[in-house]
Amino acid sequence: DKKISKSKIKEVVNAAYQKFLNEQSGKNADYIPYLANIDKNLFGISVCLLNGEIIEVGNTDYHFGIESVSKVHTAILAMRQYGSDEVLNKIGADATGLPFNSIMAILLENDHPSTPLVNAGAISACSMVKPTGDSDAKWKAIVTNIKDLCASDPVLIDELYKSESDTNYNNRAISFLLKNFDRIYDDPDLSLDLYTRQCSLGITAQQLAITGATIANKGFNPVSKQVVFDAGLAPKITSLIASVGFYEHTGDWIYSSGIPAKSGVGGGVMGVMPGLFGIAAFAPPLDDAGNSVKAQLAIKYIMNELSLNVFSGD
Ligand code: GLU
Repeated sequence: DKKISKSKIKEVVNAAYQKFLNEQSGKNADYIPYLANIDKNLFGISVCLLNGEIIEVGNTDYHFGIESVSKVHTAILAMRQYGSDEVLNKIGADATGLPFNSIMAILLENDHPSTPLVNAGAISACSMVKPTGDSDAKWKAIVTNIKDLCASDPVLIDELYKSESDTNYNNRAISFLLKNFDRIYDDPDLSLDLYTRQCSLGITAQQLAITGATIANKGFNPVSKQVVFDAGLAPKITSLIASVGFYEHTGDWIYSSGIPAKSGVGGGVMGVMPGLFGIAAFAPPLDDAGNSVKAQLAIKYIMNELSLNVFSGD
């Protein structure tokens, strides 16, 4: 049982911000203009403690594209609606070791999309969301679930949604491969559109820190004071994040950071420290694998300075 003072966390979060503020490496995602044109100097770090207190610095209220971090939220929704066993049976929970958009993720495990945290499994998770067949009601369920986890509403970034929709040929192919292997549980176009839309939601680092804290706190959102999901789902979700949160670099990440975390090409990273806090960092420039350079540096620094590691057993 680890006790860390609020003032110590504050000191370390501020030190991380100062240390990496002028880091210049990496570049914004450039596959669509919206992401390419975001101010590359934006940087924020937010920590949400399990009593709901928030410690943060920088641009923590800027709405950026949630992108792949949304895969965590919708995996939780599928588990809320179906239970964790059904998600395992219908999608899977295996690390892929592959890039986020790999079509191999479907073929790898005997026609199994492997995990809800890569594109194939995330599109499959969107297809599972009830009520199936009703796009508007499914969208409402997806957004309400994100709101439950963040304690405030996400906002759709229309321009991002349009660009993502105009260029998502690879994801269209994945949807139809899922259909071919009976691994999509609603109309493929409808499921793909919901996935694309959820990736295009604007979210803040603070909202992601609150989601991380809700998972770290076994489903009880410490800010809204609401039970969002059953306590038994928390370790399932954290294990998915730990096994595939950084795609083909997940092993390197968890080895060097000690914290399960999920990244997105919008520049966000959301970490879960079970029993202690949720943490999120945001900065647009990405490394070669599509993960925010500064967010990774900041979170690793904070974990190291606080001597925290999920595997240390302290
Ligand atoms: N919208 C992106 C896609 O599915 C998300 C990628 C990511 O954040 O890793 O292609």
